[in-house]
Amino acid sequence: MQEIQIDPSRFERGRSLALFTTLKAGGPAELFCECATADDLAAVAQYAQTQDLRLTILGWGSNILPSDTGISGLVVVNGGSDIVIEPDGVVTADSGCSFQELFLKTVQAGLKGLEFAVGIPGSLGGALVSNAGAYRSNVSEFLTEIEVVENGVREWRTPAFMGFHYRDSVLRSETPPQIALIRVRLKLPRGDAKASYDEARDYQRQRIGKQPPSASAGSFFKNIYDQKLADSLDNLPERLKSAGVVPAGYLIEKVGLKGFRYEGAMLGARHANFLLNVGGAKASSLRRLAEYAKRRVEETYGVRLEEEVLYIGDWLNWVSTGELPAS
Ligand SMILES: Cc1cc2nc3c(=O)[nH]c(=O)nc-3n(C[C@H](O)[C@H](O)[C@H](O)COP(=O)(O)OP(=O)(O)OC[C@H]3O[C@@H](n4cnc5c(N)ncnc54)[C@H](O)[C@@H]3O)c2cc1C
Repeated sequence: MQEIQIDPSRFERGRSLALFTTLKAGGPAELFCECATADDLAAVAQYAQTQDLRLTILGWGSNILPSDTGISGLVVVNGGSDIVIEPDGVVTADSGCSFQELFLKTVQAGLKGLEFAVGIPGSLGGALVSNAGAYRSNVSEFLTEIEVVENGVREWRTPAFMGFHYRDSVLRSETPPQIALIRVRLKLPRGDAKASYDEARDYQRQRIGKQPPSASAGSFFKNIYDQKLADSLDNLPERLKSAGVVPAGYLIEKVGLKGFRYEGAMLGARHANFLLNVGGAKASSLRRLAEYAKRRVEETYGVRLEEEVLYIGDWLNWVSTGELPAS
């Protein structure tokens, strides 16, 4: 294996992560650095893995809630942004590139397929981890290869190892493999730029009325696919009923928590599945409010909401009660 030259003095101690998350919450990283290229990210990942140093890679921090006590090991912010497009529609992109930028560049190159990415504020790597998507499309549909670093080895793989499902992959499991996503290859069909922009604009318009301006991580819980539950809900819109989908926000609203506040945390008044930081909320307050909503929904409807947002860092001593202690 090639020897990796990384100067550990580049790692900063105790950098606050709140600024690197869209929820604006969370404690410090034990060690922290930023990588501006895919090669640098790969080298740092190889270094961390061969030194047995726990590695957490962040894109835009738009799908995470780090604990108030922070993250042990090394946290790397992934700034690689290269996107290379071949005439045959094969795209090779750094995992740190903006997912929305990838949409724009591929449309400018005469390709289509990523219209749904407009309005998803994150990196391509973060999109892969949660199989990000919207409007019935997911990022996993277009992948052909993923470059990774695992056990100190950098190599291209077919995407099957990711185990993609609805908003899920193996990297979201409770004990995820230590895999760094470095670059991604996609194959996109040829398209018509005007049609792509029109479609993306339509999606953007649909988001405007729903998405609150406050700090959030988008939808906090996953929607529920349960035909029986959908059939039992009298006023669920017909298109959702026939698809057997129950939006998490619908259930949170039905238990009366739309717009509910707790210690600087709030469930959206426009869209109850948006957990908002409306005033210096700690990560613990945000999580307590989320778990309170989860308990209320489970008591009323018998279904357990599953988080789309990832709790990362040191939550080991966290006890989930579903109660809201008095402030
Ligand atoms: C307003 C708003 C709207 C949103 N709308 C949508 C939507 O419509 N659909 C949707 O699916 N999501 C949506 N999201 C959620 C979020 O934007 C996506 O999940 C996004 O793809 C996350 O990317 P990120 O770079 O921010 O990931 P981060 O939050 O930085 O990371 C997420 C996870 O991936 C891991 N990770 C990131 N990069 C790598 C890498 N290179 N290698 C290994 N692990 C890595 C991190 O360690 C972490 O565990 C929304 C969020 C917001 C704030």
